[in-house]
Amino acid sequence: MNTIAIKDVEYEQPLAGTEGAVCSTKHAWARVPAEPSPTERAALKDRIRRLLKEKNAVMVSHYYVHPDLQDLAEETGGIVSDSLEMARFGRDHAAQTLVVSGVRFMGETAKILSPEKTVLMPDLDATCSLDLGCPIDQFSAFCDQHPDRTVVVYANTSAAVKARADWLVTSSCALDIVRALKDAGHKILWAPDRHLGAYIERETGADMVFWNGACIVHDEFKALELELLKKEHPEAKILVHPESPAEVVALADAVGSTSAILKAAREMDAREFIVATDNGMMHKLRTLNPGKTFYEAPTAGNSATCKSCAHCPWMAMNGLADVARVLETGANAIHVEPVLIPRARQPIDRMLAFTAALKSGQPAGALVPHFGAA
Ligand code: SF4
Repeated sequence: MNTIAIKDVEYEQPLAGTEGAVCSTKHAWARVPAEPSPTERAALKDRIRRLLKEKNAVMVSHYYVHPDLQDLAEETGGIVSDSLEMARFGRDHAAQTLVVSGVRFMGETAKILSPEKTVLMPDLDATCSLDLGCPIDQFSAFCDQHPDRTVVVYANTSAAVKARADWLVTSSCALDIVRALKDAGHKILWAPDRHLGAYIERETGADMVFWNGACIVHDEFKALELELLKKEHPEAKILVHPESPAEVVALADAVGSTSAILKAAREMDAREFIVATDNGMMHKLRTLNPGKTFYEAPTAGNSATCKSCAHCPWMAMNGLADVARVLETGANAIHVEPVLIPRARQPIDRMLAFTAALKSGQPAGALVPHFGAA
């Protein structure tokens, strides 16, 4: 594996608002909203239902956010899904305003695909370690060093990084797209998640160089502790998101995106599962599979510390009160530099066209030779 290392990302920087700062994991944890009382929760949900109608708005929530935001999105005609379906749903829905509960790149992707719509987020400082770890200047220089390679970036990136890419992928379509690129003779420059990139390289045999980013949630799953947990639950099947380290992926009975994990839990012939992804997924897994038992994969030994402990602090910043507030006031609207939008949209449109062709049984691979470096 050819990995290009960059400096380690410093997540524990000062809070956004000071120049060059980002919202650190510690600050993100400190800003996680308090759980509302049952009365407050019911009142907030009523207020949001009313505001969604008044403002011609729809909720688009990720599987990792608070169960309240998942359930309310579905109940009010919105969606809870992975980032690929979030992008597609937001683009195709008739509502004028999208309320995206997730992290910033998800709101930016929605805005790039629908610049005419208003895209609101509960907290604009909710970010992602992969996005933070891939600054455009360094990434652009990396691309310049490899002009012969097709640039494939993960959705978890800034609009500027997307604008430098040939293809965008999410974890649910990355394998298919890279395989099609390889079959068409492309060599790949991959960014930013090194674990997902390495997994795709192993599965496809594509010629790839890598950016050295990681998700602070999946990077912390531990193979040794996972083996010990499996010994306690020998009948359990292990479901792993490919942003996890290779040793963890090697123990999996099924590897895939959040949607693929949901599908595996539904279809596999087992009653117990150990799940290596953000524990926000447990809500959907348990709701859809009431007779089955789900255990969180371990993130560290008893004496160790973790940044996430299997839950993304930035995803946790999303709450009902902020959804109500931004709907009421129009605050926290996502802005993407207009000059970036047409170029950033190209790799997203390619991904959406490819996955739509795949879904409808058309030869998606035929789309590949027209795009990228080869
Ligand atoms: S779970 Fe990981 S990949 Fe997802 S937003 Fe959080 S840090 Fe980023």
